[in-house]
Amino acid sequence: MNAVAPHRGERIYLDHGATSWPKPPAVIAAVSRALTDLGANPGRSAHAMALEASRAVEAARGRCARLLGVPEARQLLFLPGCTIACNLMLKGYLRPGDRVVVGSMEHNAVVRPLASLAAQGLEVVVVAADDTGLIDPGEVERQVRAAPTRAVICQHASNVTGTIQLIGEMAEITREQGARLLVDGAQAVGHLEVDLASLGVDAYAASGHKGLLGPQGVGVLAVAADLELDVLIEGGTGGEASAQPDMPRERPDRYEPGTLNTPGILGLGAAAERLAADGVQRRRRADDLLHRLHEGIDALGGFRVLGPPRPQHRLPLLSVVHDWLTADRIAFDLDRSHGIAVRAGLHCAPWAHRTMGTLEGGAVRFSLSADNSDNHIDRALEALRRIVSRAGHGET
Ligand code: PMP
Repeated sequence: MNAVAPHRGERIYLDHGATSWPKPPAVIAAVSRALTDLGANPGRSAHAMALEASRAVEAARGRCARLLGVPEARQLLFLPGCTIACNLMLKGYLRPGDRVVVGSMEHNAVVRPLASLAAQGLEVVVVAADDTGLIDPGEVERQVRAAPTRAVICQHASNVTGTIQLIGEMAEITREQGARLLVDGAQAVGHLEVDLASLGVDAYAASGHKGLLGPQGVGVLAVAADLELDVLIEGGTGGEASAQPDMPRERPDRYEPGTLNTPGILGLGAAAERLAADGVQRRRRADDLLHRLHEGIDALGGFRVLGPPRPQHRLPLLSVVHDWLTADRIAFDLDRSHGIAVRAGLHCAPWAHRTMGTLEGGAVRFSLSADNSDNHIDRALEALRRIVSRAGHGET
């Protein structure tokens, strides 16, 4: 048995679906500025430093709202992440006795809140995706028409297969049928052009730290002006303190109690500003890299690529299953022997893996960004070739 020599050279990061890295210098500078020049607590005291911090937070809110096509900035809430945003979107809207229709590709950020709501009497109807991970809007419509339905819940794009869902069509269906469309956009933002006003989505949750290139610990929830969510977390909001214990009615304060994550929010604002300038180029570049990786993996043979065959129907991520090598083994060897970071397993999305028939061993996910190079892709392909060849010769 040959010992595996740990990799000592340059490390290649292909795990942008977990979190993007490296963060742009403008993001790092904004985070740093929040901790230095803008160190006061926004929305609290009335001194000049606190007011300046408040203005910076609201400027960041405006940038994020513009990037995502949210008509009024106050409809965009800053929350600690997409998971918290999904919890507010679901638990703040759905009640025992409601019926919802949900796609079978959802992440645990949606599945687990739905499971706890189901235990309290929510009826959950699951629409199975096809073998590319796509949810058929026609089937969603049939299910919505079958019985009074309060909401359709669907991710914008899958973190397992990269499949981009037909959200616009689902929005038409929900509008016609008097239901609401609640979307988990964790993986889509930054990678897809997202214009929430024209998509007609009622609530849209997203991570700040993935395709948007912001820091970890901040996400957003965009909520249509006519959609009222229950408050899940109560506390101080700085502004409207009175003898009444009720939370203020106005957004965003109603849903943003406690001290805000100013470094995270300002970092995300800087990321949004940058993406507004170069998002289109970045998307094109990431798609080229995806194409290169997809062709290379097909040429290697022995791998099944999950998700849609056509690159324009997927995010720049590719999950693969090998004919006889386990996903864990491939990811381990990529990291230890080749310095290549990917993610193996179920990606917090057992529903999606069950739909793809990969619940047993999971898959290896390569998730790309425009910051990767052709050379990164070629080295990943060469590493895969070597891993399979060595394992085929019984080497470990
Ligand atoms: N939904 C999807 C589809 C995701 O991929 C993720 C992150 N893996 C989440 C929700 C949760 O996002 P966060 O970790 O930022 O809370």
